[in-house]
Amino acid sequence: MALREILIIPDPRLKKECDPVEEVNDEIRELLNDMLETMYAAPGIGLAAPQIGVMKRVIVLDVSDDKEKPEPLKMVNPEIIWESEDTSVYQEGCLSIPEQYADVERPIEVGVRYLDENGKEQEIEADGLLSTCIQHEVDHLDGILFTDYLSALKRNMILKKVQKLQKSKKSA
Ligand SMILES: [Zn+2]
Repeated sequence: MALREILIIPDPRLKKECDPVEEVNDEIRELLNDMLETMYAAPGIGLAAPQIGVMKRVIVLDVSDDKEKPEPLKMVNPEIIWESEDTSVYQEGCLSIPEQYADVERPIEVGVRYLDENGKEQEIEADGLLSTCIQHEVDHLDGILFTDYLSALKRNMILKKVQKLQKSKKSA
């Protein structure tokens, strides 16, 4: 396993659509493990492959509270197959948009179909934080960031803050 570098906005790779995975092989399993390690180290509760510059439809998540009992989820080619009409608002953040948070409204519940690390098709229903997190990560695979749900004014403000933060990190 290896830690990978997380891309920060405005990296153009974060705005691109990713390709489906054709076969879940050792290369993909290694990618999944690297992504989980990178996500836990950050620390974060979700990570999509384009965030480490790999343009494939792969995401990992772990929304468990208890750090002693990790509940990692590895999803290849995840697809949201239904969503509830009812929505909820969560304050979202993103490892590619460090230290910035904003309220985003999304469906409360979703159904997701994906391939697991053995290439077997799985289907789950998710609500609460897991639902939000899945939708956020699947968005990444289509080049959509949570800031795309905000006004242009707010989005630009966040971008400027991140650029300032990155600059001060580099000169520190
Ligand atoms: Zn994100």
